[in-house]
Amino acid sequence: MPVVTAERTHATHHGHGARIGPNAIIRVAEALRAFEGPALSARVFRTAGLDHYLDAPPQQMVDECDVIALHRALVTDVGQVRAASVSWIAGHRTADYLLENRIPIAAQRLMKALPAHAASIILLTAISRNAWTFSGSGHFTYRFGNPARVSIANCPVCRGAHAASPACTYFAATFERLYSVLVHPDTRVVERTCMALDAPACTFDISW
Ligand SMILES: [Zn+2]
Repeated sequence: MPVVTAERTHATHHGHGARIGPNAIIRVAEALRAFEGPALSARVFRTAGLDHYLDAPPQQMVDECDVIALHRALVTDVGQVRAASVSWIAGHRTADYLLENRIPIAAQRLMKALPAHAASIILLTAISRNAWTFSGSGHFTYRFGNPARVSIANCPVCRGAHAASPACTYFAATFERLYSVLVHPDTRVVERTCMALDAPACTFDISW
């Protein structure tokens, strides 16, 4: 039984045209509107060249270039600190969407009943199996333990960006929310290294 059902069954794993689930656009749009209001939201989407998504949010997987463009425009138009807040909310909402629509209730009950270490193994394995839906042409690797560690090389959130602090809040928030609900309520996720700070990959430590 798959613990997480994938949104699509097809993906290009490498190179141009790799695709990413629409949550990376839809949840950012929702969080941005709630946090910054409709005018600034519209400006960010215009800056990203994605204003068509404001009226008609994507229903299917999108080109990863759209995700890269949106996260860059977010930083450009609202600044890195506020962009991190928007991204945190968007990641949180992405996890809630997955909990409501993609992760079977039976699997959720099982993880909640198990000790945190065992639940972490199940969840991280499921996340890895579905990594293609959120990492596009990025390369996802992981390691069990406490902290568990997730690494995304060629990360689509911060590709080509330069930042003063780790920039992939969207992923950190998604992992933290999933772990907080399914593994341990005190889970904290910290992005230890980020490609936006010239690291070879973005790595996230997940501890509880
Ligand atoms: Zn990063």
